Amino acid sequence: MSRTFCSSVITKPTETTPSSPVEQSPSASASEHAVANVVEGNLKSRTWDDHRLTADQLQFRSLASDFAENELLPFAAQWDEQKHFPVEVFRKAAKLGFGGIFCGHDVGGSSLTRADGAVIFEALAYADVSTTAYLTIHNMCASLIERFGTEEQRQEFLPELTSMELLSSYCLTEPNSGSDAASLQTTAKRKEGSTDYVLNGEKAFISGGGVSDVYLVMARTGEPGPKGISCFLVEKDTKGLSFGRQEDKLGWRSQPTSSVILEDVKVPERNLIGKEGEGFTIAMSALDGGRINIATCSVGGAQFCVDAAQGYVSSRKQFGKAIIDFQNTQFKLADMLTSVQASRFMVANAATALDSKSPWASASAAMAKRFATDECYLVANDALQLHGGYGYLKDYAVERYVRDLRVHTILEGTNEIMRVVMARHMIKSQI
Ligand SMILES: Cc1cc2nc3c(=O)[nH]c(=O)nc-3n(C[C@H](O)[C@H](O)[C@H](O)COP(=O)(O)OP(=O)(O)OC[C@H]3O[C@@H](n4cnc5c(N)ncnc54)[C@H](O)[C@@H]3O)c2cc1C
Repeated sequence: MSRTFCSSVITKPTETTPSSPVEQSPSASASEHAVANVVEGNLKSRTWDDHRLTADQLQFRSLASDFAENELLPFAAQWDEQKHFPVEVFRKAAKLGFGGIFCGHDVGGSSLTRADGAVIFEALAYADVSTTAYLTIHNMCASLIERFGTEEQRQEFLPELTSMELLSSYCLTEPNSGSDAASLQTTAKRKEGSTDYVLNGEKAFISGGGVSDVYLVMARTGEPGPKGISCFLVEKDTKGLSFGRQEDKLGWRSQPTSSVILEDVKVPERNLIGKEGEGFTIAMSALDGGRINIATCSVGGAQFCVDAAQGYVSSRKQFGKAIIDFQNTQFKLADMLTSVQASRFMVANAATALDSKSPWASASAAMAKRFATDECYLVANDALQLHGGYGYLKDYAVERYVRDLRVHTILEGTNEIMRVVMARHMIKSQI
């Protein structure tokens, strides 16, 4: 069935001047140029999945691939090196509809499905995992407001979030509450004689922290445990909100991460998302989509690594022949691609489960996240190995992919916690 989608998604960007990634790359070496050329070819001609994608999805992928090739790939290495957060590029992405993929047209969103989103995020992550991963978090926040916000909240915040004039962050983790998220200690207490809440506490590891304009903060309004948690929208300029130092990270360097500190932060009742006590359910529900998004970033990054490794071993000669002519290398590449494709199917299955509101959706998202992020990290590591010593150098892009993919097994719930989610579901359903 053909759907109507945001016209901005199918309108090609007029402000973008397509040019070779090689020409635009500020710091690319000759070897990186070679990789960029291989990648350029593959971005345009990937056919592995065509048979299962809808006509609309093929169009979204083409649009996202063009954007990735022109706006992300040429600059990704420099952003990583300089820890540059490319806010202007996000706004260009938003012009294509990528800032509010799961939000309604009436607030500037693209009103697409999770399965559509996976196709878009994979194509973008192929060029730059870290930058795309922040885009997925922003989309998770926007879709949280879309789903759980009041009509007033939707109309007040979403138009500027979908255009990415405003950026957003998701604040669940605390210094003493990571995997055991329901034990969070940030408090939100009603101000005496007022309908306002006063928030106190600290959130740790917040992606976009210090730069984002809107913070979705889970805080305790009631009893210990998940039922006492509520979700608040806190605006950046609110008195009492401050940020820790920017964390220096192994990967995900094109996006900031910091703690978010709340000291007597007054939040009006109208910024409570959902009802009091619903915050944990809202946070976990948002993470179902977030886990699919992160898994899809792993798939995109790993596909790049397969293509880059194939390109490299095709031209690199040892013992008088190209390394790809050794059967061991061919088997390795075949296994790598199999892992990527299996991960892609798991993600697509989880996205469809979420779209169809299947009772298996949360468990499927956890399963896909666990599998895809583990497998795709190993694929990136294998790609580095196939580059030999050169893979360890920043001249070649694979080392950045290894660093960026590593954190996907940790955040949005560690892969151990994904197993906890799945096991609980299995026991409950007596599978
Ligand atoms: C770069 C980065 C960005 C992030 N962005 C965000 C963000 O935007 N918003 C946000 O809210 N959070 C964010 N996080 C936080 C992330 O979600 C947490 O780091 C993660 O949930 C794990 O929590 P923890 O680090 O406290 O580890 P811990 O919970 O202390 O876990 C340590 C180890 O123990 C294991 N473990 C814990 N409990 C169990 C158990 N029951 N069974 C078996 N093993 C267990 C874990 O799997 C892990 O291996 C980010 C983290 C990073 C690194």
